[in-house]
Amino acid sequence: MPELPLKYFCYVCGHQNDLMLNIPVAPEMSREEITCSNCNDVTNLLLTSCPECKEAFKYFLSDLDFPHELTTLAEVYVKLIRGIEKSLSGVVEEFKVPLPKRWSIRLDCQCGKAYTVEIPLPQL
Ligand SMILES: [Zn+2]
Ligand SMILES: [Zn+2]
Repeated sequence: MPELPLKYFCYVCGHQNDLMLNIPVAPEMSREEITCSNCNDVTNLLLTSCPECKEAFKYFLSDLDFPHELTTLAEVYVKLIRGIEKSLSGVVEEFKVPLPKRWSIRLDCQCGKAYTVEIPLPQL
């Protein structure tokens, strides 16, 4: 897991935070909670590095608490599938839909290589 420097400009106060973070190589992705050293605003980052050049990485900023958001989405999905299952009982013998374990995202690195990262979904 390469340790890479990250300059993060707080979007609340504009303060520059210099961080050293352990960033996994794609398709692995890690989630970090960054606290601005100036205003204490908390931001969630998803981090990964390019499997080709190992240098560059992409990150996403968000106010969202990812695990919470993902759990809510996964719950809605599971309920939807159960609803379909119920409405189909008696019509078909068996109805089974595999739930996804992860979401894949395609990224383009500045070195020219396109790669895929995966965000693990919570299992209910
Ligand atoms: Zn700040
Ligand atoms: Zn690259």
